[in-house]
Amino acid sequence: MDAPLILQRYAHVLQRLEQACAAVGRSRSEVRLIAVSKFHEAADIVACVNAGQLDFGENYVQEALRKREEVHAQVGSHAPCAQLRWHMIGHVQSRKAAQVAGAFSLVHTLDSRRLADALERHTADLHGQQPVLFEVNIAEEEQKNGVFPGALPELADYVLEHCPHLDVRGLMCLPPVFDAGQAARPHFAKLRQLRDDLRRRCGLPLPELSMGMSGDFEEAVAEGATMVRIGTEIFGPRSPKGAKPEA
Ligand SMILES: *Cc1c(COP(=O)(O)O)cnc(C)c1O
Repeated sequence: MDAPLILQRYAHVLQRLEQACAAVGRSRSEVRLIAVSKFHEAADIVACVNAGQLDFGENYVQEALRKREEVHAQVGSHAPCAQLRWHMIGHVQSRKAAQVAGAFSLVHTLDSRRLADALERHTADLHGQQPVLFEVNIAEEEQKNGVFPGALPELADYVLEHCPHLDVRGLMCLPPVFDAGQAARPHFAKLRQLRDDLRRRCGLPLPELSMGMSGDFEEAVAEGATMVRIGTEIFGPRSPKGAKPEA
């Protein structure tokens, strides 16, 4: 899409986000917009960066790392490359953990012991800390990634005990897609409840709730989202040819 159109759409999303916060008496500063740029070109990201956007979400490791290079090259030294935050919002296979650890500001999709172990090992090698969210399969859908709500406490206990280099910041979910965003709202409420329960159990602040996409972000904000992940409403539809995940 051309840059002026992206800017127009981006401005519209910012406005809707502002209204969604105001409608429930929340401050706009409590909700971070993550622009989801998967399958869109680096030039589209650059247009967004030039409009002041700093957080970007990507689903595939190779695509994300390649585009990040391109973005940095295109934006040049005048712009805030060092301030950009890249979010891994796609499923991460354990064998890709080496490429993910330390490369993303936040990994939204920790959902197994196996991945936790792999991220822990590679983050320890870097002598760093990797911020993570637990991805919860909130509607217990067969084909979806994420830990089931009932298994979340056990996974959290495991990570807190065995993964000192992982910094657990909260929860993320991807509810079923509905025609109307309203239908997603109970799932968002449930994620918040799970977070509150886990907070009591672990004694961690768990400030982040990553929930809400193009079709339902207003409802997510109403239920306490601190991060909304919006792709289509900003960048337009994704091309089907890009829909092939990397091997
Ligand atoms: C693609 C994707 C999004 C963005 O979806 P849109 O409907 O295009 O806004 C958000 N979260 C995740 C996990 C995604 O994979």
